[in-house]
Amino acid sequence: MDSTKRDIKSMTLEELAAFLRELGQPAFRAKQVYAWLHSRLVTSFDQMTDLPKSLRAVLEERCLLPVVQVEKKLCSQLDETVKYLFRLPDGECVEAVLMEYRHGTSLCISTQVGCRMGCAFCASTLGGLVRSLAPSELLEEVYAAQRDSGKRVDSLVLMGIGEPLDNYDNVVRFLRLLSSPEGLNLSLRHVSLSTCGLVDQIDRLAQEKMGLTLSISLHATDDATRSEIMPVNRRWPMEELLAACKRYFAVTGRRVSFEYALIAGVNDSPQQARQLARLLDGFGCHVNLIPVNKVKERPINRRSSREAIAAFAATLQKLGVNATVRRELGADINAACGQLRREHREEGAWDHA
Ligand code: SAH
Repeated sequence: MDSTKRDIKSMTLEELAAFLRELGQPAFRAKQVYAWLHSRLVTSFDQMTDLPKSLRAVLEERCLLPVVQVEKKLCSQLDETVKYLFRLPDGECVEAVLMEYRHGTSLCISTQVGCRMGCAFCASTLGGLVRSLAPSELLEEVYAAQRDSGKRVDSLVLMGIGEPLDNYDNVVRFLRLLSSPEGLNLSLRHVSLSTCGLVDQIDRLAQEKMGLTLSISLHATDDATRSEIMPVNRRWPMEELLAACKRYFAVTGRRVSFEYALIAGVNDSPQQARQLARLLDGFGCHVNLIPVNKVKERPINRRSSREAIAAFAATLQKLGVNATVRRELGADINAACGQLRREHREEGAWDHA
């Protein structure tokens, strides 16, 4: 981004008010501009038709108005799921998925271009981390999905490409903007943030008191296995992670949920199901069992059999752990997380910048 220009879409209402004051504008302008940006979701200053032309010209000269474009769109034939490949202002691409549930429309967004966490089953981490997304770009994923679909996003999951807690400040600012009454006013109770387990950042997040649901990618029941498939475990082993989850619940009153991708021969035995139930005893939490998506370039990629998944779920339930097997929406367009971006890059349709 052009660093001499201010990113107007990442500013809070208060910051925008201060900026417009510096430009000699009357006080009412801030709410007006903020509403164009965050409620009416415009993509250019020209669309702000009730601002004087001279002010629009100054904003154009002094500010960036980041917009994401739909680079590619896959629509499921089986259900209403839509997978987007969004192009950011510098030409990098990220993925988002729009899903229809009985209780409304849900959007899954990316928080970084690539990822540096190195999980052994995940496609997003293959080329490492390119960069983190700005608050304005995170907002634009939501806005672009709404503009394109004509739907209102009712709930949001931060579960696309990237590790949200490795882009902490931008993600927190984004969530505050997204939930502002003058913006989309999305309740943070309808937001889930998924993390591989950065314990120090989980503690920080608890202190923000934002009321969002924390979802932990657990995927193993002992440190040896987890460290093998998730390098982050070498820094923050399971005992410390689970202790942080307890603290998160104590501080926020929000239950933590767990993701567990079932990988044949790695983490899907009956004994591991029992061990998981023991570990989560007393959490009162929810476990989402995910049949692992095969990523051909990753070493650990064998999906558990249907029978093993059902047996794993049944064992957890019998031991009092609330577990569900994730319904696979958009199965026909299911390039697993991070794969659409990679395919697109391999096709050479990449260098827009
Ligand atoms: N970095 C965050 C959020 C992005 S990953 C995290 O780790 O939680 C979103 C979820 O998809 C995580 O639970 C992740 O472990 C899981 N995931 C990644 N690759 C997968 C694959 N090939 N099959 C199934 N789940 C996968």
